[in-house]
Amino acid sequence: MKRAIFPGSFDPFTIGHFSIVQRGLQLFDEIIIGIGVNQNKKTLFSTDQRLEMIRQAFANEPRVKVQVYNSLTVDFAQQVDAGYILRGLRTVADFEYERSIADANNKLTGIETVILFTEAQYAFISSTTVRDLIAYGKSIQAMLPPNVHI
Ligand code: ADP
Repeated sequence: MKRAIFPGSFDPFTIGHFSIVQRGLQLFDEIIIGIGVNQNKKTLFSTDQRLEMIRQAFANEPRVKVQVYNSLTVDFAQQVDAGYILRGLRTVADFEYERSIADANNKLTGIETVILFTEAQYAFISSTTVRDLIAYGKSIQAMLPPNVHI
């Protein structure tokens, strides 16, 4: 059984995240989406709201689970017995960040990070952009996964 975690803040969970998980299902038998919670970091959406939107997105996909964690990402991966960390890459800036974390995680535990490039049509979508649009009262429905309403 090949199990991966897909960790992130998901504030909110976007169609870009959704696409990475859908494509990851071709590589892994099961993906556990881990909502990383940091008490000191203020979020727009509560943990429960984020859990709910991810559950809605994958209501028909039993191979995707969602959990909240507040530990180090590699500790969470080991706790749920996942051998892989799935991440998405949009830009060169993402690359530098992802590489240093992936290296550290691999040195710590031997866990491999598997990176998928974003689909071109979603490359501009980030949780930050979605939050900014919400603040200005714009519709963000097109940036959310199908079946997710916030
Ligand atoms: P974090 O706070 O850990 O960066 P995010 O919720 O912002 O968490 O993102 C989780 C993962 O999803 C990261 O690997 C990020 O690069 C990836 N990601 C975010 N937006 C997109 C997108 N539009 N397309 C592909 N991957 C994305």
